[in-house]
Amino acid sequence: MATEGGGFAASIARNNAPASELVAPGHMDVLDAIDLPVIIVGRDCTVTSVNRAAMTVLGLTASDIGRTAASVLAAAENVDALCAQVIAEGAPCRLEMRDGDRHFLLRIAPCTGGDRQIAGAVLTITNVTAFRASIDQAIYEREYTKAILNTVIDPLVVLDINLCVQTANRAFYAMFGFSRDETRGVPIGTLGDEVWKTSQAWESLKRTLSGDTEFPAVEIERDFPAIGFRTLLLDARRLARDGEALILLAFQDITERKNALERLAADVAALRRLHEISTKLSAHSDIATLLGEVLDAAIAVTGTDMGNVQLLDPASGELRIIVQRGFSDSFLEFFNSVHGGTAACGTALKNGKRVIVENVESDPLYDEESRQVMLAAGALSVQSTPFITRSGRLLGMFSTHYRAPRSFDERNLRLLDMLAQQAADLVERQSAEQELRSINDELRRSNEDLNQFAYAASHDLQEPLRMITSYSQMLVKGYRGNLDEEAALCVKFITSGTQRMRELLADLLVYTQVNDAAGGTELVDLNQVLEKEIENLKTSIDESEALVTHDELPTVRGHEAHFLQIFQNLISNAVKYRTARPPRIHIAACQSEDCWLFSVADNGIGIDPAYHQTIFGVFKRLHGREMPGTGIGLAICQRAVERYGGRIWVESQIDHGSTFYFTLPGSKGEGRAR
Ligand code: ADP
Repeated sequence: MATEGGGFAASIARNNAPASELVAPGHMDVLDAIDLPVIIVGRDCTVTSVNRAAMTVLGLTASDIGRTAASVLAAAENVDALCAQVIAEGAPCRLEMRDGDRHFLLRIAPCTGGDRQIAGAVLTITNVTAFRASIDQAIYEREYTKAILNTVIDPLVVLDINLCVQTANRAFYAMFGFSRDETRGVPIGTLGDEVWKTSQAWESLKRTLSGDTEFPAVEIERDFPAIGFRTLLLDARRLARDGEALILLAFQDITERKNALERLAADVAALRRLHEISTKLSAHSDIATLLGEVLDAAIAVTGTDMGNVQLLDPASGELRIIVQRGFSDSFLEFFNSVHGGTAACGTALKNGKRVIVENVESDPLYDEESRQVMLAAGALSVQSTPFITRSGRLLGMFSTHYRAPRSFDERNLRLLDMLAQQAADLVERQSAEQELRSINDELRRSNEDLNQFAYAASHDLQEPLRMITSYSQMLVKGYRGNLDEEAALCVKFITSGTQRMRELLADLLVYTQVNDAAGGTELVDLNQVLEKEIENLKTSIDESEALVTHDELPTVRGHEAHFLQIFQNLISNAVKYRTARPPRIHIAACQSEDCWLFSVADNGIGIDPAYHQTIFGVFKRLHGREMPGTGIGLAICQRAVERYGGRIWVESQIDHGSTFYFTLPGSKGEGRAR
């Protein structure tokens, strides 16, 4: 490759001014540094020099030196003639040329030699294809950004350093009701009214522009001429273009979000209120107070100060006001008993559905009289919602009244429905509780009657029984040795019958008296009670060679007599229902969360699980006369335990002994006696 002249570019002097005259030797380096292909021709239009770009872009080589311009630039028409013209006239010209897909712009300019005379021409070739592509790309990107900005729903505006509008998107113009021309270059602070201009937002904007602070998002509430009242969140970002500071302002319309949040907060408050009412349900028993709570909640959620709750009187089929807020006596008198079909509440009663009257003045639901009563009370609109049980029974009505005509949105109506359901549940539960209370009262009364009867029977029968016993004894004494065998047997039966009856009556008396223990309860150390009872049963324990052991027992609150009864019956049974082995009886106690659990375990004959429940009934026995007993012992135990809110049961298998369990109240950490 030719490197004449010290540069990369090739040059030659032939039939021309010497190359050194056209391109000084040092200048060839300059030409090589240029990206643009450069070809220099002499006065005869033959190539004298080409730079590096001409070699790489156009594929020229050193062998092209000396050839005509037309022969090295085949794509350029008439290039030789044009070169000659430029050289002759000294004026440059330009020409488009195409090489396949590529477009080039050929510029031909005259070139002077050392003598200041035109000595040839310089041909520069610009690749227009690449240039156009980059312009197209720039246009595309600009349009693309514009399209995106215009499809963004939130208004965006770009401000310059003086807070003047540079550009904005469609949403901005639509929201503020300005045109593009009206706002270009206008200080944003001067757009709109005074409130807008004095807004603190502009101060923050200026600070953001000065670069030392971040713009804190600001909430703006405005009544916009084009779109009405909106809440906007204003945010700003600093942009930089060619070192110039710009601000991108974004307005986010948060009206809906804010309204939804407000609605949600109101719903939450209403639900909390509903929840409070249901909590109060368990605290109050007064139905009027509870319905008052429901009414207050309805009044609060629908934003009024008037309303009433009526209950349906099943006898007359009329609605009667139970609670009310904000009405005068004359209103209450008029609406105190409402028939089906009268006004809003009567119509709701008749149809079993809510009635809304948006304007009392014009609604045909009212006759002249009822309309006047409503208007005199200042009630210009009203809603009446029936409360209906889950089984479909209409129990009553609650109505809220408003001082201006109004309509209700879905949310309000939903809340009213919930309140109506609450009221229905309330009334239903209340009447169920009342019914339960009266059944309980009746049960208690009949229990008392039965108890009195059992007491009277067991007590009053003692006297005739004593007479039979003493007369039969007189018979035996008086006729000693004179009674025949049959008469003596009869007298024996009478004696044992009366003896058994005495035992039965005595036990029955104890049973009836369990609930009547006189005096208040006291702390009773069960260790002492048990030891006393073991002493009482000493004879039978010794005779049977029984061994009675026990854990440390607690101190509990109650009547000692009851605990003696319990231990007496359980231990004597454990001795009585023994096997051939000597009885082993163990009494234990352990504490659970809120009660003491006691157990009395034996190694006796055991009980078939089929009878685990029945044996606690009065007179229920699993044995005949061969085992002494009245069948009342366990019933007494059960009565005594239940008297303290405890319970008693047995776990046992035939031949595997029995363990009787019972519980007595006593919270953790209290009651250990030793
Ligand atoms: P009784 O006066 O017959 O003992 P209870 O009411 O004390 O009456 O007991 C009812 C029945 O339960 C007894 O007749 C007996 O069959 C059964 N029973 C009670 N305790 C035991 C026990 N520890 N082992 C086996 N059976 C028992």
